[in-house]
Amino acid sequence: MNHAKINKLIDQYKFDTPINVTKTHLPNLESFQDYLKVIWENNWVTNNGQLHLRLEMELAKFFRAQYVNLFCNGTLALMLAMHAARLHGEIITTPFTFPATPNVLHWNEITPVFCDIEPNTYNIDTDKIESLITPKTSAILAVHVYGSPCDVRALECISNRHGVRIIYDAAHAFGVELDGQSIADFGDISAFSFHATKLFHTIEGGALVVRDLNLKKRLDFLKNFGIADEETVVTPGINAKMNELQAAIGLLELKNVATEIHKREKVHYKYMDLLKTTPGIKLPEKLPNVKRNYAYFPILIDRAKAGISRDELCDSLRKFNVFPRKYFYPLCSNFPFFASLPSASKEKLPIANKVAENILCLPMYGDLELDNVEIICHIIKNLMCTHQF
Ligand SMILES: *Cc1c(COP(=O)(O)O)cnc(C)c1O
Repeated sequence: MNHAKINKLIDQYKFDTPINVTKTHLPNLESFQDYLKVIWENNWVTNNGQLHLRLEMELAKFFRAQYVNLFCNGTLALMLAMHAARLHGEIITTPFTFPATPNVLHWNEITPVFCDIEPNTYNIDTDKIESLITPKTSAILAVHVYGSPCDVRALECISNRHGVRIIYDAAHAFGVELDGQSIADFGDISAFSFHATKLFHTIEGGALVVRDLNLKKRLDFLKNFGIADEETVVTPGINAKMNELQAAIGLLELKNVATEIHKREKVHYKYMDLLKTTPGIKLPEKLPNVKRNYAYFPILIDRAKAGISRDELCDSLRKFNVFPRKYFYPLCSNFPFFASLPSASKEKLPIANKVAENILCLPMYGDLELDNVEIICHIIKNLMCTHQF
């Protein structure tokens, strides 16, 4: 590495304020205050308030889904989805995801069986699932990584052939459509996260989209201690309810989501344009028949061609006040509490391990100025040259 050259670059291009991997969009403060007035007037702050009911209805319309169930966060939504669907034994899932995905299996006393991913979308490789199915397999938990849809048709075939359920962790896929159909239309249950770092958010929050009224009712009990009425508790539920302040943020953010996607689309194509000829950088794939949400901008670094490793690039960018994130590193199958599982060995998950070592998510949010995208790309290209020579 040529320190003198890098220091000169830093002098020239360092941002005055940090550019993080994402920036939470907040609604107009006055419009939030209008909702606060309603909440104060009704003196109803949680437990199925009117804003909660309205957000469930508006999201059902948005997803073109029959039933939406809101939660205080995406992890508890996913955890209760497993419980409500009465899943057990083993579930085949991807190691290339956020820790919440395999961790909720642990909380349901289900053994995760890790399956390798495919190299273009980084989603679970449906060609490798069937060899992992055993008599104990009750479901497949697939993740639409970075909002790129899984091979939902192949998963449906596997589900029908083996009688296993399909659950989608759709935390990244808000607003995504495949062949004109909402992403929530596939599988038995889709789980969304509305965390502040996600494309659409309620500060903390989450939702399940289900197709079955009984499942919807069971989830209503499970997120509220199992209470059916004042004197009846039907199941050992927990507390995972969304409150009225979260729902108010959701109602306001839902109005902004189309604009946010549109602005991110511009950032996406700016990056694509500026990085398309840079050797050693694999850019996001084109996704035919998909209405994307542009939630993330992942690049995969090929050290041999780029002359710089992912870690070197990430560390160097920090010196410029640019903070990309290694989503997802470390790989979930390498967590100390999963690493001894037979399915977690590195030789069985070569692609997932390689991607986790080389992936980097660049800053992506609607308010990221295109001029700043240009500077970020300029820094990246210069770092590559400086490391190389
Ligand atoms: C964010 C995320 C979750 C967890 O959601 P929370 O709302 O933060 O609990 C689960 N799965 C994936 C893939 C995520 O990115």
